[in-house]
Amino acid sequence: MRAFLNEDETIHYEADDDDINAKNSGFENDYSNPNHGDDQSQHSTFHENEAHEYHCNNCGAVLITEVNTTATTCGFCGAGVVLSDRLTGNLAPSKVVPFTINKEQAQEAFKKWCRKGRLTPNDFMTADRIKNITGLYVPFWLYDMNGRGEAEATCTRVRTYSDADWIYTETKYYNVYRKVDLNYSRIPCDASRKMEDGMMDKLEPYEYNGLKDFNMPYLA
Ligand SMILES: [Zn+2]
Repeated sequence: MRAFLNEDETIHYEADDDDINAKNSGFENDYSNPNHGDDQSQHSTFHENEAHEYHCNNCGAVLITEVNTTATTCGFCGAGVVLSDRLTGNLAPSKVVPFTINKEQAQEAFKKWCRKGRLTPNDFMTADRIKNITGLYVPFWLYDMNGRGEAEATCTRVRTYSDADWIYTETKYYNVYRKVDLNYSRIPCDASRKMEDGMMDKLEPYEYNGLKDFNMPYLA
């Protein structure tokens, strides 16, 4: 950039070759290039007879279990659910965050949490409720995103100072040009309509380190 002083004593900055080159190498060129297209999204699918789908008649939840499960209860409302012959969709998870605690540890944690609440009703912690603690996998989409943009602005920096006779105002002008190329990978997005959003937020931050390739035995 080159600066010079005008007669009105404001300083102007002119775009130099670097600015012009940056401006001319805009993203439009990238978009017109077919090699810069979006990546195909990647999905895994279930094989035939690999998983069973359950529909809860009581609350409408859709649950997927491994194929050997013959009867189960709805993880959302506790009602018995009906086995469906085949999956209505065939999308399968590609990754899974396995449980890091077992049922006994979950029961223990629940009891400990109940003891903290002074107003917890006595029957809240009954053996029956604790016995029914079950694990539940919640589906999440993981999105990769790319965002590109350009911003151009004329900015000013104003300074006022004075001596005995005069008040001076100095205004500096400068061009700002920014090219932004942002890549986000694996943004988690709750894929279950039945799960309460507030509860899902409590799972954050998403446990990327625990991600493992999905295998049906995880559902057993
Ligand atoms: Zn249900």
